[in-house]
Amino acid sequence: MKLMKIEPQNGDGSKCLRIRPHHLLCIQGFQGYGYSKEFKENLARIIEEIKAFPEIDIKIVTGVDYICESCPYNFKNGCKVEFEAENRIMNMDKLTMEKLDLNDRSVYSASDVFSRTSNLNFRC
Ligand code: SF4
Repeated sequence: MKLMKIEPQNGDGSKCLRIRPHHLLCIQGFQGYGYSKEFKENLARIIEEIKAFPEIDIKIVTGVDYICESCPYNFKNGCKVEFEAENRIMNMDKLTMEKLDLNDRSVYSASDVFSRTSNLNFRC
C-alpha cells in the first residue's frame, strides 16, 4: 500500500488529479473513515490539496484513480470491494457523471466540479 504523490500531470507542469466520478461525492462527504490507514491518509491529503488549490485540475476517469491507488480493495487495477464490484462501481460512476453533467476523460477545475456536487443529495 502506498500514499500517492500528487505530481504534475499536465503538459504545462500543473497538477491534475485523476478522480473517478462517484469519488467526488465521497470527497464531499468524507468524515475521516475508510478502508485502511493508508486509504484514509491518502484521501485526507487529496482533500487538503483541493482545499489549498481550488483551481487544481481534476481529470474525470471511469476506472482506478488516485483514491483507489491506496485502497486495499484495488487488485490489478480493478475494484474488488465485493463480488463483481467493478460493474456496480462503474454504474455509480456513470450515474454521477450524468447527474453532474461531466464527461469521461475531460478536465475540470476542482471549484467547478464541487460547485456541481454541492447541489446533489446522494452520497456514496
Ligand atoms: S478500489 Fe473500489 S472500494 Fe477501493 S477506493 Fe476504488 S472504487 Fe472504492
